[in-house]
Amino acid sequence: MKVRFWGVRGGIPVPGPDTVRVGGNTPCVEVRTPDGDLIILDAGSGIRPLGLALQREFPKRLICSLLISHTHWDHIQGFPFFAPARRRHNRIVIFGEKRVDERLEQILAGQMRAVYLPFALKDLHADLLIKEMRDGETLVIGDHTLVDVRSLEHPGGVFGFRITNRGNVVAYATDVGHGPSGLDQRVVDLARSADLLIHDAQFSVEQKAHHWDWGHSSWEDGVRVAIAAGAKRLALFHHDVLATDDELEELEQRVQTVFPGAFVAREGLELIIPARE
Ligand SMILES: [Zn+2]
Ligand SMILES: [Zn+2]
Repeated sequence: MKVRFWGVRGGIPVPGPDTVRVGGNTPCVEVRTPDGDLIILDAGSGIRPLGLALQREFPKRLICSLLISHTHWDHIQGFPFFAPARRRHNRIVIFGEKRVDERLEQILAGQMRAVYLPFALKDLHADLLIKEMRDGETLVIGDHTLVDVRSLEHPGGVFGFRITNRGNVVAYATDVGHGPSGLDQRVVDLARSADLLIHDAQFSVEQKAHHWDWGHSSWEDGVRVAIAAGAKRLALFHHDVLATDDELEELEQRVQTVFPGAFVAREGLELIIPARE
């Protein structure tokens, strides 16, 4: 499998001289399987440059799945600017939470109302299939890819994903809190023996002590999950808006002394996950 980071920041895009190396776009991760499945995790502002790259690669027809962990704005704000959604011959299957209060389609259309944007969801002419999912479901994508969906702790709710293809595993747990009493076992289960765990690392340990109920993790939580789950690599993800390149690079060195497989997720970083026998 191949994983590429297009947006790694939480909250709001933060372009500027302090974020050029790690990147300022909000969450978007591209996962490709050896079978040619294309899975996009979240539609933060990083999905815009991903869309441009996909247009160049698939000028005739693109088929992909977009998994939305939750609909906080930093995870959907890039969707209106995802260029492949404008082309009639493309097919995008969008998976998001089935809620009782509002349908996923209404939420996506809601951020594109005329008061916010000069075009609407109906102006995106691709074949958009909107599928709502529930906690505990397993999605089937293509012939050899399964995605386990688990509900995790975050204000308003969030889904974590475990993507499995021919024995390889990528786990995605962004915007997730572990509470004061210890690790959330559901996150550990999602990340069990994963080749790569992408984990929320919004907070420093000190920040988390003040905001433990905000539904985010410290980098230490990510390391503890990775160790408990036996994950090989750990991508620290959803960086705080105030974290500078210098601070994150320093953090990376510190974390690697505790867990050598850890690294700071950066825009443009691509990982190849070797196939298992
Ligand atoms: Zn977020
Ligand atoms: Zn959130």
